[in-house]
Amino acid sequence: ASGYSLLRDPRHNKGLAFSESERDAHYLRGLLPPTEVTQELQEKKLMHNLRQYKVPLQRYMAMMDLQERNERLFYKVLIDNVEELLPVVYTPTVGEACQKYGSIFRRPQGLYISLKEKGKILEVLKNWPEKSIQVIVVTDGERILGLGDLGCQGMGIPVGKLSLYTALGGIRPSACLPITIDVGTNNEQLLKDEFYIGLRQRRATGQEYAELLHEFMCAVKQNYGEKVIIQFEDFANHNAFELLAKYCKSHLVFNDDIQGTASVVLSGIVAALKLVGGTLAEHKFLFLGAGEASAGTGIAELIALEMSKQTKTPLEETRKKIWLVDSKGLIVSSRKESLQHFKKPWAHEHEPVKQFLDAVKAIKPTVLIGSSGVGKTFTKEVVEAMASFNEKPVILALSNPTSQSECTAEEAYTWSKGRAIFASGSPFDPVEYHGKIFVPGQANNAYIFPGLGLGLVISGAIRVHDDMLLAASEALAGQVAQENFDKGLIYPPFSNIRKISAQIAANVAAKAYELGLATHLPRPANLVKYAESCMYSPLYRSYR
Ligand code: NAP
Ligand code: MN
Repeated sequence: ASGYSLLRDPRHNKGLAFSESERDAHYLRGLLPPTEVTQELQEKKLMHNLRQYKVPLQRYMAMMDLQERNERLFYKVLIDNVEELLPVVYTPTVGEACQKYGSIFRRPQGLYISLKEKGKILEVLKNWPEKSIQVIVVTDGERILGLGDLGCQGMGIPVGKLSLYTALGGIRPSACLPITIDVGTNNEQLLKDEFYIGLRQRRATGQEYAELLHEFMCAVKQNYGEKVIIQFEDFANHNAFELLAKYCKSHLVFNDDIQGTASVVLSGIVAALKLVGGTLAEHKFLFLGAGEASAGTGIAELIALEMSKQTKTPLEETRKKIWLVDSKGLIVSSRKESLQHFKKPWAHEHEPVKQFLDAVKAIKPTVLIGSSGVGKTFTKEVVEAMASFNEKPVILALSNPTSQSECTAEEAYTWSKGRAIFASGSPFDPVEYHGKIFVPGQANNAYIFPGLGLGLVISGAIRVHDDMLLAASEALAGQVAQENFDKGLIYPPFSNIRKISAQIAANVAAKAYELGLATHLPRPANLVKYAESCMYSPLYRSYR
């Protein structure tokens, strides 16, 4: 192989870090300036350059350039600076990148499968250079973050998620495959945009949609086998549910918007109970927002399931500890006839309550969860009510972005006179209240899916089971240290994420073995050590 092509191969390129002997052995003499530097110095230079850019999208593009140039350095930089760079390669900046993906598109970072490829999807998969794939993240671009239908430009999401699978969860980059399925877009602006990269037609639906997806699912299993994780990402609610229900019995499928969100929120609640006291079943939950997918009922269901496992009580019983409010008020049994199917399990006996504040006062929850997407709904009166009947009210304001948060961290702490245990969907800075520093946690899905994925991979799991989500939640909650609790945090800091992911992976893998869903036999004795040993390292290797 020529030295010139080695420098252009991102998987093997080390730039100025090639040693003298490597330069001799691989025909690199003269192709590089004389200096030889360490990976640490390269990292330092990169971070220095990156911080010069004040516009987030420029930082994003600089990171994407690096990924295309020198993959190990990209991951080294990302892993070592995870708190600073997560918002760059993932939300919120990745959202902006998707919106402008047509203009910034340079090289394919994943596979595009459109209606044009119908009947040929297996061939398309074979065009991808890597043959041994462990994780696929796939989107159809219909519900990208909070931004809506971005069609084919949703590709930024699978690419970003998979870079987190590697950086946070230690999955090899070569085993990751981002895919965008393009069935058109209903985004008029994009359809008119001369730089749009997708099919210029409105979305295919119904049978045409289902057939393309089915061909895709079959082709993936045929080409990569049964143990490849297929993570559905940012599909519209109805499709997300249908796809998960349809393929969960035949494929290793996971929906991060539904299952990942529920798992990360449950984890925060389990951790919060260590501060507040009491078991899950001794608490009472009230949700503002009863959405089908991401938030609302999905989270409620996982909480009820965990409660049911802990107390060995049927789900129908534990669900009664959880109340939800939608746009029409408290969900109660007298409304049952007109309720959407996913709300029915939550319609308990109670007189109708229209106003949210009245519902809070009537139910007197110990844990309040905002998942309506509507900001400023946890008013001073709501927080004061929570603080009036709880010594330490747990308040989770999950709606994104920051402007839609139910309340700010500062409001939660001041209105509760420093007693609230607060976490949110969007990040908030630490707050000083009466001389004490409170650090609000962020219910970020990136805590869960990389470790969960690693656990599935190392056990060779062939199905995702709800108990694995509970195992992931418990493992994450177990990683919150006393020093974190002391600041009011119910999530651990991201700086330890690889260690946390290994713990999650081990707990998930243990569950896979217990359930008989693991194929990697015999079971390693120490799953944490094993998980750690399987994780991708971004350090350069010597080519001798
Ligand atoms: P969704 O499916 O649109 O559901 C919204 C729910 O809120 C519906 O039940 C709706 O009532 C209710 N609602 C809307 N306006 C209301 C109002 N003014 N008063 C009371 N209820 C109201 O949304 P989603 O997918 O569940 O997402 C909701 C929010 O959660 C978003 O902001 C999203 O960003 C956030 N989220 C956060 C995370 C995280 O933190 N990790 C993850 C996922 C989602 P009806 O049913 O009556 O229409
Ligand atoms: Mn998502």
